[in-house]
Amino acid sequence: MTQDIYAALGVKRRINAAGTLTRLGGALMDDEVVAAMAAAARASVDIGELQAAASRAIARHTGAQAGIVTSGAAAALTLAAAASMTRWDIARMAALPHAEGFANEILLHRTHYTGYAHALRASGARIVDLGHNDRGTGAGVRGLEPWEIEAAITPRTAAFAFSANPSNLSDLAVVVKACRSKDIPVIVDAAAQLPPKSNLRRFFELGADLVAFSGGKAIGGPQASGILAGRRDLVGAALVQQLDMDVSPETWAPPDLIDLKEMKGIPHHGLGRGFKAGKEEIVGLLAALERFAVADDEASNAVLEKRLNGISNALGELPGITKRIAPARETGRVPQLYLAIENPLALSRRLQAAATPVHLSERFAAQGILIVDPQALRPEDDAALAEAVRKALNV
Ligand SMILES: *Cc1c(COP(=O)(O)O)cnc(C)c1O
Repeated sequence: MTQDIYAALGVKRRINAAGTLTRLGGALMDDEVVAAMAAAARASVDIGELQAAASRAIARHTGAQAGIVTSGAAAALTLAAAASMTRWDIARMAALPHAEGFANEILLHRTHYTGYAHALRASGARIVDLGHNDRGTGAGVRGLEPWEIEAAITPRTAAFAFSANPSNLSDLAVVVKACRSKDIPVIVDAAAQLPPKSNLRRFFELGADLVAFSGGKAIGGPQASGILAGRRDLVGAALVQQLDMDVSPETWAPPDLIDLKEMKGIPHHGLGRGFKAGKEEIVGLLAALERFAVADDEASNAVLEKRLNGISNALGELPGITKRIAPARETGRVPQLYLAIENPLALSRRLQAAATPVHLSERFAAQGILIVDPQALRPEDDAALAEAVRKALNV
């Protein structure tokens, strides 16, 4: 059916071996998740009450105190930044994104500056960078040091942001230690740090205050979903800035995540009003999270590795290309097939221009490698993928 819908719109279906990329539609959902979304679409519920239920489920799977469903990890980062600046102060909530009147600076280590820093800035926060990139440039051996963080924290500091990846995790404990004593929330961008599913809990175990996960990547939820989880007070302050607040103070019954006693009144629509998560996304994300949290990473990696072997065999000998399967313990996520080639982007361009466009991951193109990432690749596309690569190489 899906194929018919896209064909009817005149939109090409693509073979996606590039991963759960947002621009290619993110993850593919299982039938059970689709069914949960469809069922959710057919009834009216109180979204605050539904988010409270989501919070209980997210807390169970992550070990965080609370969690809400957002419209994506980027939205979760914006809300995390907003909540860190406002806490329960409704005048600050009303002021955002104009945040000059209060602590509005978010510390970000230089090596953590990604395109998603814009999501933090969208709240009105200002990024203040610190530290060196000795390791990244190969100039030296030292990473982030406690004294640098302590020296950077001022009365204007609202939060510390951390873009997690498998190689910088040991720095997180250093950051948490330096920030905790000064009540500076640590916000972790873990959007794409799943699998392994142990990372659902890992960042909280390391002391993060707020963590953003993407719902439409490995979790396999609706594409426009994400999770903001962490400290109950901060998650509550984020939720009240995301909900529809066109409410009568006399009749509004907020979920208990929202602490009325802490607020001087009832805020109007907040900064996050444009990031609403619909009932379908909330229910779909929870259905996907239930499945993801019980899945056996090793078993699913073994299945993926077998498929990559099949693809590699179908590719056969390719002139000028060296193939290698990188196991999950090397990639930090899922097994991938690396194709080392002299001009990777030329091949990628040809594949994308095919009648049925094929996408490989260009993440390591600068190192002369195209990657077959199986995360969003339908098993029925494996053979066509191999065929398309051979054709693009004229073999
Ligand atoms: C994908 C990604 C995001 C954004 O996630 P969405 O759910 O698409 O909003 C943020 N940060 C990183 C590191 C990502 O990879």
